[in-house]
Amino acid sequence: MADNTFALEVITPEKILFRDEAQFAVVPEITGELGVLKNHAPVLAALKTGVLRYTDTGGTVHKMAVNGGFMEVVYNEVKVLTETAERAEDIDVARAMAARDRAMQRLQARDDGVNVTRAEAALQRSISRLKAAGKYQQ
Ligand code: ATP
Repeated sequence: MADNTFALEVITPEKILFRDEAQFAVVPEITGELGVLKNHAPVLAALKTGVLRYTDTGGTVHKMAVNGGFMEVVYNEVKVLTETAERAEDIDVARAMAARDRAMQRLQARDDGVNVTRAEAALQRSISRLKAAGKYQQ
């Protein structure tokens, strides 16, 4: 079988979350989604908070929540450097729901004490975690 894979690594300031061989990855690039296949041209892309998904060598699709940062592609080595990242199976759904509710209440309260930028960022993090876990409902 032809090797059509590349190495995918997700790194946070806390740890190397994982390293795996991937056939295909889609990352939340700041202006949209960016797909990566083997032999992708070298690139440095800024990421937004969202869901990263990739297909492993067995064809299984994995999802994880990522929180900004960068993706670097160099010679079939794809590195995602992000502030926080959680694999779908490690996401505490109740915690993400509570974070979403807190952020929404802050944004709806519209009182002067609310840091809107911070609340919006917290809302995006919680939504991407719920989406990665397959629990997002509008
Ligand atoms: P919370 O208000 O629930 O703490 P947060 O968005 O403020 O959410 P972060 O500051 O982004 O949390 O993350 C702090 C740490 O907790 C990171 O290591 C992150 O991976 C982890 N984390 C945050 N939310 C979850 C979750 N729902 N499930 C699993 N890990 C989480």
